[in-house]
Amino acid sequence: MNVVGIMYSEDLTKYDFGEGHPFRGKRFSDFLITFKQLGLDELPRLKIIQSSPCSFEDLLLVHNEEYLEMIRQGEKRYEPLSLDTPLRPGMFEAAKHVVGASLNALKYILEGNAAAAVGLGGGMHHAFPNSGGGFCIVNDVAICAEYLRKKEKIKRILILDTDAHYGDGTANIFFETSEVLFISIHQNPSTLYPGTGYIREVGRGDGEGYNVNIPMPVYGNDSCYELAYSEIVLPLVKEFKPEIIIRNGGSDPHFSDKLTDLGVSLNGLRRMGEIHREIMQISGSKGITLIGSGYNPIILPYGWISIILGLSDIEFSLEEPIPLPTWINDESILIQAKNFVKEVKNVHSAYWSL
Ligand SMILES: [Zn+2]
Repeated sequence: MNVVGIMYSEDLTKYDFGEGHPFRGKRFSDFLITFKQLGLDELPRLKIIQSSPCSFEDLLLVHNEEYLEMIRQGEKRYEPLSLDTPLRPGMFEAAKHVVGASLNALKYILEGNAAAAVGLGGGMHHAFPNSGGGFCIVNDVAICAEYLRKKEKIKRILILDTDAHYGDGTANIFFETSEVLFISIHQNPSTLYPGTGYIREVGRGDGEGYNVNIPMPVYGNDSCYELAYSEIVLPLVKEFKPEIIIRNGGSDPHFSDKLTDLGVSLNGLRRMGEIHREIMQISGSKGITLIGSGYNPIILPYGWISIILGLSDIEFSLEEPIPLPTWINDESILIQAKNFVKEVKNVHSAYWSL
């Protein structure tokens, strides 16, 4: 594979909810420091590229003007969008940098610079057209997909969401279209925010069968994810034949994450990047990967780097900074995952050859 462009800007660090909040802007500079400490900036196949903010018009691809104006006014008065998503002056501009990095990554591959690119900060999948929450103000994942549909007339887009949380905003935006296949692998929604993303939420109207939710049991480990890839993700990719694949999700499925209860190792995060590369190869498509989440600052840079290394097919030995817990390979976890995967196949066999 040729170069993988990684879109980064110092301005991303302004996407910061403040002291005591689990989403701080320092995550972006922490990533870059570790990336350089490991000497990865010297590899010719990984290229850090200065990203630029998106325009107001880009945001209108998904969000309505009243909502955007509400953020612009609300941030001056420190009004929260939701309990967990406080606004502070400058957040609207910072959000435009997040979306900008994702759109820059998309345009980078559309212009033929590479088969794959990374947008740092992206994956704001809890934002809806006229509301936000879950640390998300505007939905860059959906904006990228809408850019492809509206500006590039691309009709088969796959979004693979591997964030620990369900991408409820993204799912909602594409719930009634067959042009976007949304596959989400996330912690069992009865045990984690946002509390939706059950198997039977399959889409509606033209979109029926195009919303595929694969819940993972609490402590769901690398083996559980492999099962989801081989039994559901790969067959769906072969049948849907996407033209572009957007993957989103950072390091929050890691076993040490402080907000979630999954059991994925650094190697499991690398596998998320590898699977992205594999499904691009299978379908002959290009893709972008959007990385922003992660709530254990010790793991976050290593987790993000693992995903990027997997996507780029670069062998690089990374040691797990935190020892693997004893429960991580408990057999009962895989049994629960098998049951979830079986149910997904049962429900979606009405729409796909599963
Ligand atoms: Zn998350």
